[in-house]
Amino acid sequence: MSEPQTISHWIDGAISPSTSGKTAPVYNPATGQVTANVALASQEEIDATIASATKAAKTWGNLSIAKRQAVLFNFRELLNARKGELAEIITAEHGKVLSDAMGEILRGQEVVELATGFPHLLKGAFNENVSTGIDVYSLKQPLGVVGIISPFNFPAMVPLWFFPIAIAAGNAVILKPSEKDPSAALWMAQIWKEAGLPDGVFNVLQGDKLAVDGLLNSPDVSAISFVGSTPIAKYIYETSAKNGKRVQALGGAKNHMLVLPDADLDLVADQAINAGYGAAGERCMAVSVVLAIESVADQLIEKIKERIDTLRIGNGAGDEQGEPHLGPLITDVHRDKVASYVDIAEADGAKIIVDGRNCAVDGHEEGFFFGPTLIDDIPLTSRAYTEEIFGPVLSVVRVASFDEAIELINSGEFGNGTAIFTNDGGAARRFQHEIEVGMIGINVPIPVPVAYHSFGGWKNSLFGDAKAYGTQGFDFFTREKAITSRWLDPATHGGINLGFPQN
Ligand code: NAD
Repeated sequence: MSEPQTISHWIDGAISPSTSGKTAPVYNPATGQVTANVALASQEEIDATIASATKAAKTWGNLSIAKRQAVLFNFRELLNARKGELAEIITAEHGKVLSDAMGEILRGQEVVELATGFPHLLKGAFNENVSTGIDVYSLKQPLGVVGIISPFNFPAMVPLWFFPIAIAAGNAVILKPSEKDPSAALWMAQIWKEAGLPDGVFNVLQGDKLAVDGLLNSPDVSAISFVGSTPIAKYIYETSAKNGKRVQALGGAKNHMLVLPDADLDLVADQAINAGYGAAGERCMAVSVVLAIESVADQLIEKIKERIDTLRIGNGAGDEQGEPHLGPLITDVHRDKVASYVDIAEADGAKIIVDGRNCAVDGHEEGFFFGPTLIDDIPLTSRAYTEEIFGPVLSVVRVASFDEAIELINSGEFGNGTAIFTNDGGAARRFQHEIEVGMIGINVPIPVPVAYHSFGGWKNSLFGDAKAYGTQGFDFFTREKAITSRWLDPATHGGINLGFPQN
């Protein structure tokens, strides 16, 4: 058998083979086979990437709006025309089903489409005659080099939350993708090249903590956009801030879906299945807890259970039966961690209604599969309730009242997403007002805002004060200058005056 290929960096507009001698395995999670090794950058490679981006940022940031906009339109057209290739790459390394891979690309493409309209979003403001003959106006200028560090679960969409806006605003980007699925980033780099982006404006640095720390500690990197687990998000936030960088660090989640008794339970059960088990639960906006008012809990559990029985698990790329509903988890290590949370729940006295721990898929015996799991009566002190599991595990918690539900959601450490299912407008309105969560769905289970709004949670789900994309994205990737201007003429000159300037 031939040696698996090595996936390397993209520096200065081309693949740059690594000489670090360090690699990590990349799997096809459906087969459990190592399909490639990804290079882990050395300090020299990190420095070379930053140097290339620093040089490119100077010219790219000064290029005319019209020329930059033409490249963005080209990128959007190429991405749209060839997104099928990218979906296949995502499924092969992440495991999610092809239609779901396509879904993440389309949600990322929304941000590219927003970014094509950047001239309007980068306009400054102007006030004429703030004092006699004096005007004040502002400019939004790029930061220079920005770093993006992304998680495994959306290898295309999460980088796309940031880099179209960063590049449109005139910055150069260094993307450090997850080492678990590194190829989507390289595919997008190639598309940028074909779209006419100058070399060095978009770079991909493959690696682990060394590569991340290289970006965090470099004085030439001005800003960091991070998405991943909460402990790493906190580390990224603290280290970047210590180094004087602008930073947004999005962390983990534990999203609750509240079901009031007036909701249509069949529709709710469908939504719980979609949001709990889609992408095998490896979504930061997945629903992991169904909060049911006691009077409807048994009925709802029965309906969810019936639906689980109809789900098919298999290779995300499809087989003779077509596309399954859910694919494998990312690694065997992660599958075992998910299983350990079900063990914890059981040991803590929860009822395992549907158990996905011994899930086998014919012909894919080595794949990292885990079946949809449904848990009832989970104690609120159990780590399986308080911590993020990031797998196809849905827990049901019964509450006596609407107030108890709000209190429970607000007591959690995370505040990424939540949803309420009801036909009572007053209850929904109170929910949106009182809940301490950044993204809320009203009869919508995965409320990921469209590109022209912004994405981000509260509490331990986001460190920093800028959310991803939307107008907050443009603010994050630019810095403003305010200019006070007077064209001297004797009538308004005012002579010598050492006092503080007044209007
Ligand atoms: P992760 O935190 O393990 O890794 C994220 C990135 O950080 C990767 O690029 C990784 O190489 C790097 N990294 C890992 N350990 C590091 C360390 N010690 N020092 C420096 N860098 C390090 O996250 P993951 O497992 O890839 O992704 C899943 C997590 O991401 C989940 O917690 C999920 O909720 C979260 N997530 C959050 C959002 C959001 O918008 N809030 C979106 C997607 C995923």
